[in-house]
Amino acid sequence: MNKEELWQATLAQLQFKTSPANFATWLKNTYILDNKDGLLTVSVPNNFSKEWLENKYNKTIFHIIKELNDEVKEIKYMVEKTAGKAKEAAPRHAQPSPPERQLGFPELDADQTTNLNQKYTFENFIVGPFNELAHAAALATVKNPGGPGNPLFVYGGVGLGKTHLLQATGNQIIQNTPGKKVKYITSEYFTSSVVSAIRNRTVETLREKFRELDALIIDDIQFLAGKEKTQEELFHTFNTLYQAGKQVIFSSDRHPKAIPALEERLRSRFEGGMVADVSMPDYETRLAILRTKLQEKGVFMENDVLDYIASHIQRNIRELEGALNRLITSSQVVGKMPALQEAKTLLRSIISNPNKAANPRKIIQVVAEFYDLKEKEIIADSRKKEVVRPRQIAMYLLREELKGSYPFIGKKFGGKDHTTAIYACEKIHKELQESEMLVDEISLIKQRIYSG
Ligand code: ADP
Ligand code: MG
Repeated sequence: MNKEELWQATLAQLQFKTSPANFATWLKNTYILDNKDGLLTVSVPNNFSKEWLENKYNKTIFHIIKELNDEVKEIKYMVEKTAGKAKEAAPRHAQPSPPERQLGFPELDADQTTNLNQKYTFENFIVGPFNELAHAAALATVKNPGGPGNPLFVYGGVGLGKTHLLQATGNQIIQNTPGKKVKYITSEYFTSSVVSAIRNRTVETLREKFRELDALIIDDIQFLAGKEKTQEELFHTFNTLYQAGKQVIFSSDRHPKAIPALEERLRSRFEGGMVADVSMPDYETRLAILRTKLQEKGVFMENDVLDYIASHIQRNIRELEGALNRLITSSQVVGKMPALQEAKTLLRSIISNPNKAANPRKIIQVVAEFYDLKEKEIIADSRKKEVVRPRQIAMYLLREELKGSYPFIGKKFGGKDHTTAIYACEKIHKELQESEMLVDEISLIKQRIYSG
């Protein structure tokens, strides 16, 4: 058995011991570089693969290889500069799958009682440095629902996999213990249930409904900002479930500390268990996600097209999928997959120069919405703390993202003096060095500016 055959045989077995998503993420583009004197060196495309394989898979890999070649005593993983490009999977022919699978409407497929959609699983959830923590926290929850990590709070920007992870967690809890009562709801659903229960004097019935659950999942909790009655009801529901050892899972687009108009007692509950973020995937992971999605759909796409998509869509996994679907739909009409040039044309509306998307109006709008303020409030003269800080952040973004001059920025904020703009930008700039939370907050705001 030569090096290639040995690795192929190893991969073939590893495939059964890892999820397809992890397989695609960590084992693509790996091969045996050298096998000498009992030391086998595996080339891996990047440091994350290296770390992951060393820490999580080394034992399994060693076991498999040992069976195949008894002389191997040790395995080393090495990052080679050109490794990423060296080995690409052999091209397969275009084989479009039925359109209903690609364009599936999640809401329609969801279970009527749990609101869980089977399409969200851990198997098809790609793990990379950007979401590793949230993934691990979700797995811990599955392993021990209602355990020390209760509640689980996952936060991060739009289209980065929060709903997928929450749904996968719910699905897996039921799969592990059939009969467990799990319910997934959005925070809007919770709000409207509370409002109508108050109106119809059926609050008690509503409480009963939630209290009998083993796990309650509430998505996009940031929308509860400022809704006092709903927050109060959530507080009681949470306490009842929590005290009974039932699991509660939340998601939000930001850290609990950064949700405006949230009751302190709720905030401290949110922070009382595991808080984990999902950030933006790196290039390798974006490519792995594209490849996995293609594999799921049984479609082949040229590497240069995939590279184009992965390098241009950086902030949102939903958009990555959107780009793939657009090309696939087009290929079904035309009868073949578009090559790079055509792909560029087809994707023009999705992939535009990001700097074109930002303008002063948009920045102010997004910042105001983010902090639950009116645009007018940000622009006006208020010296209230809740307004001053968002205003400074908006000024900072006008400077950083648009390279606006200080007098220009002052003018955009109701004709303020340029010294006010300078002060704001310097203050935020300085704070960014010290506060990781502010870094997160601003990156979320930017993501919204460029994705909307
Ligand atoms: P969010 O709730 O954070 O806005 P979603 O969970 O709706 O994001 O994810 C958007 C889309 O991207 C979904 O179709 C989801 O399946 C997909 N997706 C997100 N993260 C991943 C991942 N890590 N691996 C595979 N697919 C993902
Ligand atoms: Mg979501």
